[in-house]
Amino acid sequence: MRIVDVIVRKRDGAALTRDEIEFVVSGVTSGALPDYQVSALLMAMLLRGMTAEETAWLTEAMVASGARVDLSSIPGTKVGKHSTGGVGDKTSIIVAPLVAACGVPMPKSSGRGLGHTGGTIDKLESIPGFKVGLDREAFLAAVRDIGCAFVGQTPDIAPADKKLYALRDVTGTVESLPLIASSIMSKKIGEGTDALVLDVKVGRGAFMKSEADARALAEAMVSIGSRVGLTTEAVLTGMDAPLGRAVGNALEIIECFETLKGNGPPALEALCVALAARLVRLGKVEPTLEAAEARVRTVLSSGQALDTLRKVIERQGGDPAVVDDYTRLPRAASVEVITATRDGIVASVDAMAVGRASMALGAGRDRMDASIDPGAGIIVGAQPGDAVTAGRPLFGLHVGRGRSSDEARLLLQEAVTIGDAPVSAPRIVIDVVTQAA
Ligand code: URA
Repeated sequence: MRIVDVIVRKRDGAALTRDEIEFVVSGVTSGALPDYQVSALLMAMLLRGMTAEETAWLTEAMVASGARVDLSSIPGTKVGKHSTGGVGDKTSIIVAPLVAACGVPMPKSSGRGLGHTGGTIDKLESIPGFKVGLDREAFLAAVRDIGCAFVGQTPDIAPADKKLYALRDVTGTVESLPLIASSIMSKKIGEGTDALVLDVKVGRGAFMKSEADARALAEAMVSIGSRVGLTTEAVLTGMDAPLGRAVGNALEIIECFETLKGNGPPALEALCVALAARLVRLGKVEPTLEAAEARVRTVLSSGQALDTLRKVIERQGGDPAVVDDYTRLPRAASVEVITATRDGIVASVDAMAVGRASMALGAGRDRMDASIDPGAGIIVGAQPGDAVTAGRPLFGLHVGRGRSSDEARLLLQEAVTIGDAPVSAPRIVIDVVTQAA
């Protein structure tokens, strides 16, 4: 087979065969195919699209390019979760202990933050001593003993995706729905769980700005899951405004603890309970969503989920005392405040602007090798629908060491719209896409 023939067929709009796709992925993995030809094919895929079958074959070939984690030593139905990324999205750190405390094992593999979105691994690393680089045996043992554990993405899962993503990043070919769907799903399938819940964010602070695009991505990923035998459900959730009040690593960790103590922002708690309930039902310990939700609420209010997170922190080398003593977490160099300039009702808080401002304060990175300040970030003082008066704090700016607040101030002054008309609170769960749909 010649790669140029595959490129020409895709350029002319043909659907590729399974053999052709496997040939391409194996050539990418081994390095036999030059970047210029792979890039040309990626562009043809972006412009011509891919059928559901081609997308599933591409996903399967990328999974087969590496290892699929063997979770068989952990009894029960193992579940996974993935979020397409947002601002203030700390749900995994709350959901995993909720699900584990209900008796469903949840091995959680996560990434670092890039650009305006944060990453679970950076958030957890703000806990003094916490190690995300557990070896596979230690990770599996932690999930077996406690019910959940967190690990950074390992290079042995879907290595072909890593190479293809690096090329897409520099050739204008990230924004292809089948390529995004297969990229995400190849990594989630490689993690070896039996069921998966995807949190597909929609809105200004999300990868997918429109509900139609988010739904199409959700449907593509659920369809891949169904074709490869991984039970997958997707929840479309709003990301116009930041999720919760805290944005930035240590600040978000405190909000996770507060949520597991029953004091979380209502929207954050509602989303975590909704996601956890789906995972608990897929984990087959409750027959219905209602029963699963009741069980999740029980482990939340009893403190069992908080205890689970405390155990995970201890097992992964972190200081478990942080759960009750937030002064043990890193802090910003200084805290500044931006206040409302008029009375009124908050119409919108732009998640993208808040994410960028948080990055400018030192909480995020614009390049993968940039350093972050774990204490930096933003406390969002008002959400859409809240009534505010002039002089009330809208944002607390936690300024990282060696950083200036100038850029963040400019971004945040434009981030909030205050009007006079009543505003309904943003929708948390917009819709659900399941395999049966
Ligand atoms: N995230 C991924 O993992 N892959 C993509 O292609 C886009 C976002």
